[in-house]
Amino acid sequence: MTGTTAPAGPYPLPLDTDPAAYLALHDALDEGAADVALGDREREVRAATRRVVAEEVAPRAAEVDREHAFAHESYQALATAGLGGLLVPVRYGGTDDTHVAYALAMEEISAGCGATSLIYMTQMHVAYPLLLAGTPAVAEKYVPGLVEGSLYGSLGVSEPSAGSDAASMRTTATMREDGEGYTLTGTKTFITTGDRSDVIVCFATLDPGAGRRGITAFAVDGSAPGLSHGRPFDKMGMHGSTTAELHLDETPVPATHRLGDEGSGWSIVVRSVTKSRISAAAQGVGLARGAYAHALAALHRAHGPDLPPDAAAELADLRGRILQARLVLHGVARQVDRDEADAGAIGLMKQTCTDIGWSVAVAAARLLGRSGDLADLGVERYLRDAKVTQIYDGTNEVQRILVARDTSRRLKEALR
Ligand SMILES: Cc1cc2nc3c(=O)[nH]c(=O)nc-3n(C[C@H](O)[C@H](O)[C@H](O)COP(=O)(O)OP(=O)(O)OC[C@H]3O[C@@H](n4cnc5c(N)ncnc54)[C@H](O)[C@@H]3O)c2cc1C
Repeated sequence: MTGTTAPAGPYPLPLDTDPAAYLALHDALDEGAADVALGDREREVRAATRRVVAEEVAPRAAEVDREHAFAHESYQALATAGLGGLLVPVRYGGTDDTHVAYALAMEEISAGCGATSLIYMTQMHVAYPLLLAGTPAVAEKYVPGLVEGSLYGSLGVSEPSAGSDAASMRTTATMREDGEGYTLTGTKTFITTGDRSDVIVCFATLDPGAGRRGITAFAVDGSAPGLSHGRPFDKMGMHGSTTAELHLDETPVPATHRLGDEGSGWSIVVRSVTKSRISAAAQGVGLARGAYAHALAALHRAHGPDLPPDAAAELADLRGRILQARLVLHGVARQVDRDEADAGAIGLMKQTCTDIGWSVAVAAARLLGRSGDLADLGVERYLRDAKVTQIYDGTNEVQRILVARDTSRRLKEALR
């Protein structure tokens, strides 16, 4: 901690266990410059989410992290408050809100507990392909349960030898002889909530030689024969969310559970990442804010509101970076609401917000000196949680490639 001793005990800071303190500090961190374009309903969603996070999510965050305990109660609290289906139509139990409202909620949840935000976003990432390409019966079977928290879902894209190059997946779907459905065989890895999923949106290929054109999406029921999972991985962060390997051994899937046409899976992936990259970007902003808030609280405890000048200068920089990320997030989410966002904008948002999330968390820990290493102060948890946001939903190196391609396209168009 700059020019001072460690903050006075007792640990932990009351920030996460005292909802009034949590709300007071996080309300004080709102920025008018980012709020100016929000609608009334969007502000309402943010306030409602922040309240649930202060009362039910943040108080559990340190424990689920320490114990590696799935944040079931935290997700249930959000679902019970009617926040589980912000991007889901009303007829399937959702509230049909804007992507901006969803981004605001994701920022709030991530600021309180990264692991809960990962469970929360995965529920939406599973609901979306079911709504986009499933039959009404399949959507009806799973989506309301995902929204209300009676079902958990997983998205199965990654495989042991297919990560960034997802189109090289080897899980195969074979039409059964009776023509009534398919059997799926293969391994999916690093699957969020994979140890307890009631439904898996699983991508498989009908023809390994056909690349993207062979990829097809299926809704695999969690009780299907031949489906099993490995022990959850022991990860750097996001301890309250489980990540596991899934094995499919001639798992039967009815034809009615195919999502869209044969070979249309890649277009579902492409449309889905628009949503999932908003999720990851919002996590970046929320984790940055959480780390910053915890550093502020610790510094305040040690020094009172007039912070030492060098710490104050660094904090001014962090506040500016969080605001920049939030403006990018809101701007691109608004573009998505208007169907105006392209891959360049989405990639720029994902990369910028998650890089800022990581760098702010690192800087917040550094500001506290040796105290930044203390789990009780909370900052190191944000740092550990922030790392993975740069990796999943398309690594930031891959985002840079997408942004570079978009820049070349713009140059070509502008200078031809
Ligand atoms: C906690 C966690 C949860 C996850 N949840 C899910 C989930 O629910 N469902 C799911 O399907 N997947 C999930 N994933 C997997 C995640 O999407 C992949 O890890 C990610 O796509 C990257 O793939 P990879 O790990 O195989 O890295 P690789 O593709 O092997 O990349 C390794 C390194 O090379 C870089 N690289 C790769 N290609 C290029 C290139 N062309 N140019 C420059 N650099 C490149 C990458 O940026 C990276 O730094 C999860 C991962 C984690 C860690």
